[in-house]
Formats: sequence, structure tokens, C-alpha cells
Amino acid sequence: MENRQINEFMIGGIFASELAKKYQTPLYVMDENKIRNQCQMFHKSFCYPNIQTEVIYASKAFLTLAMCQLIKEEGLSLDVVSSGELYTAIKANFPVEKIYFHGNNKSKEELHMALKHQIGRLIIDNQNEFDLLTELISEDEQINVLLRINPGIEAHTHEYIKTTKNDSKFGVSIYDEDTINLIKKIDKHPSIHFKGFHSHIGSQILKEDAFFEHAKVVLAFAKKVKIATHVRVEEMNLGGGFGVKYTDSDQPFSYETFFPRFLDMIVNESRKLNVKTPKVMIEPGRAIVAEAGYTLYTISGVKETYGKKNYIFVDGSMADHMRTALYQATYHAVIANKHQETSKKTYTVAGKACESGDVIIREINLPKPNKDDILVVFSTGAYHYSMSSNYNRLLKPAVVFVSEKTSRLVVKRETYEDLIRNDL
Ligand SMILES: *Cc1c(COP(=O)(O)O)cnc(C)c1O
Repeated sequence: MENRQINEFMIGGIFASELAKKYQTPLYVMDENKIRNQCQMFHKSFCYPNIQTEVIYASKAFLTLAMCQLIKEEGLSLDVVSSGELYTAIKANFPVEKIYFHGNNKSKEELHMALKHQIGRLIIDNQNEFDLLTELISEDEQINVLLRINPGIEAHTHEYIKTTKNDSKFGVSIYDEDTINLIKKIDKHPSIHFKGFHSHIGSQILKEDAFFEHAKVVLAFAKKVKIATHVRVEEMNLGGGFGVKYTDSDQPFSYETFFPRFLDMIVNESRKLNVKTPKVMIEPGRAIVAEAGYTLYTISGVKETYGKKNYIFVDGSMADHMRTALYQATYHAVIANKHQETSKKTYTVAGKACESGDVIIREINLPKPNKDDILVVFSTGAYHYSMSSNYNRLLKPAVVFVSEKTSRLVVKRETYEDLIRNDL
């Protein structure tokens, strides 16, 4: 037993191999305490005396009924981008006043749903969406809205660029003269209440300067709007994008020390511009759940190709792990019963889908695996389950929460009947 404890990888105090045996593989495992700690870290650090702040979890990263429940318990708000995400939140009895509804092309049905459930904030993407909303809203309905603006900044990972052209599909440009007119129109509407702006500059951002630049540009625009329209921007939702660690080459900055400085800058900048500091919101998705998640696969074997490439084959695929194929994302992994062994042998971890792009990890050094060893892939809590598909009619894995040496199933593994449920 002692040896086993040293040599076998554990999640939340449980051996990965035991989880694999109990729930089968592929399996998504979420360390519940890690998610809760991240929620509490954001909640605690995103604070500043005398200004209002709010942390909103971007649910597209990972959403299930159990996750809604957890977010509710931790006191965060929720960002949804579709009627399906909203439906899940409603079914979990998530407090509607804490729901933010995003999206660049909401349907009539989605707008109706937002109005019916009296959600906290609807984020209007553009003029067409505002027009549609004015057609749909009845006299006895009210809704608070934010306008999605495009600040002309795009940031990904290490760099950010200020674009003078604004080609994003999201929001209205701060450089477009019509944006001021749209704000005036929204503000005049008797039952649609303009509260402020929302913008989001990108994802997996690992440098502070993009966030600082973003906040400055939005504040300067709030000032411009105040001068041009006398409409006050009470709220500024600056979106998500906070980077996480996938491999050792990703070095996120410390959020605990960043947020107080960030909010301090916002307060000072507002003072300089002579505007009242708006309420500030952020929407972390990835940073709440990514590192809490692990995917477990069973290794079926190793294949050395004629061209001398070494493949490890696992029982999952791009259907449960999209990000490598989609973004050339990189991952760290260990073999559960050899996780402390080092090796210089390089493998490519490939799935079982009929697609040569079906790769889980392009290049990783691992000890020589044996058949039926469990491969644990790290940092798969965000954009894995939520991006999973039934490509090749593969069944979506189960999701398990682990905490203090106990595990609970929060999403069942799909069955063959699930696959043909809607087939006629
Ligand atoms: C995707 C998204 C987020 C979350 O992004 P992360 O990179 O997961 O933090 C937040 N807000 C909006 C509007 C988004 O589209």
C-alpha cells in the first residue's frame, strides 16, 4: 500500500486507477475543491474599497446542473450564451437576477426566454438585436441591458494587438459613430434600461498589460459617451480571458496580486477622466475550471510507425478532447501508475476517431506504457466536456466530481440509446 501511494497518481485523494475502474474510461474527473478554491480566490481578490465588483462564471467553459449548484453555493454570478445554457441554469434554480445572457445572434425564442425569466442582464450585441428586442418586449416587461462594445483590442496568450479595423463578429465598435446613436436609443426606451458596457478581448491571456489597456480604453469610451449623450455608464463588464497552465511553458500571473492593482488603476483612471468609477465585472471561465479537470483514458497499446513515430493509443478521441485538433493546444499528462518516472522517449497520444487530426497530445515524454495503464491528461476542466461531440457516434464520457476522498457521478456516460434518441 505504501509503495502504491508513492507511485500512483491521485485526484482529490482517490487513486486515478480506482476512478477508472469504478466509472470506466474515458472519464472526466473534476476536483471539486480546486474549483471552489478558484471561485473563492476570484471573489476575494476582485475587491476594492467603495467600488462595486462582481465575478461572473462564464459557463460555456463547463456547465452541468451540479456545476450551477456549485457556482450558486460559492456566490458567483453566471454568464450564459444560449437558451440551452439558460435552461440548465433555470433547471438548477440558479438565481435569475445573477444571470448575464450573451451572444451575437440571439433568436426570438432566446430573447423571450430572457424576458420571461427576468434575468439580471441581457447583453445586446448590435442594432438588429436591439430592434428585435423592442419588437418582442411587452408593456409590462422590463429588462436591464449592457451593450457589447468592440474596443479594438484583441489578445491571445502572450500578445495583444490594437486593431484599427474592427472585424470581430461581436459587438459594436467604439470607433463607429452609430454606436453613440444606438446608446441614445437604448437609453430612451421606456422598459429597456441601459446599464453600461460589456467587452471581452480574448482567451488564455498570460500577460497583464492587455487587461490594463482594455480597461483604459473602455473607461475613455465611457467618458466620450457621457460627453456626447449625457448617459452615464454605471457598469463595465470586462469579460474573461484569464490564462491557465496547460504545460510548463504557460506561466499565468498571480491573480491575487493583479486584481487589487487592476482595480486601483481603474479607480485612478476614472478620477483622471472625472467620471464616477463604474461597477466592474469580470467573467472568468477557463480560470475557474481548467486546472481542476483531468481526463482519464485507458491505453490500449503503442504503435511505432515505419517512419519511426511512436503513438500511444487511448480509448478516447477528439470527440472528448477537441482543443488539440482545433487550436493546436498543448497538454501535460502522466501514466497513473508511473507518474514519478521520467523518460526521454517522445510519444504522440492519438485517439480512436477516423481522422488523422485526431490527436490528444502532439508530443510528450512518457515512460513506456503497458496495455491497460491509465493515462491522466491535465487541465481538461474547461472547454472539453462542453465541446464534446458524438463524432463517429462515440459516446460522451461521464463526469465525476471528487472531493475529500469521495467521488460522485454528476453526468452519466452516454448510452447507445442516447445516440439514436432523436433518430426517426
Ligand atoms: C468565452 C467568454 C468568456 C470566458 O472566457 P475565458 O477565456 O474562459 O475566461 C467570458 N465572457 C465572454 C463574453 C465570453 O465569450
